[in-house]
Amino acid sequence: MSLAIVDSCVNCWACYDVCPSDAIYQSSPHFLIDTKKCTECEGDYAHPQCASICPIEQAILDASGMPVNPYGSLTGIPPELLEDAMQEIQSR
Ligand code: SF4
Ligand code: SF4
Repeated sequence: MSLAIVDSCVNCWACYDVCPSDAIYQSSPHFLIDTKKCTECEGDYAHPQCASICPIEQAILDASGMPVNPYGSLTGIPPELLEDAMQEIQSR
C-alpha cells in the first residue's frame, strides 16, 4: 500500500525529509511517492509523516483515493463552516 501526491502539491519540500522510507522524490510538475518504497509509515510512526506535515490540504491521497489530509485538517475548521469563518475573519 502506498500514498500518492497529487497535482495540488506546491513543491515545498516539507515531506521529503520526514519520510522514513526515502519514498518521496522530486519530479515534474510536483513531488511523487515511490509506491514500491512507501510503507504508509507502518512500523515507524502512528500517522503518515508526509500527510502530517503537508501544508496543502487534499494533496496526499491514500490507496483508495481518499485525502489523508482532508479539508479542515490544518485549520480545524469544518469545510461547511469555512466560508462563514472567512467572512468573520475578514470583517475584523
Ligand atoms: S506515508 Fe510514510 S513512508 Fe509513505 S511516503 Fe509518506 S512519509 Fe513516506
Ligand atoms: S509537503 Fe505537500 S506540498 Fe510539500 S512537497 Fe510534499 S506533498 Fe507537496
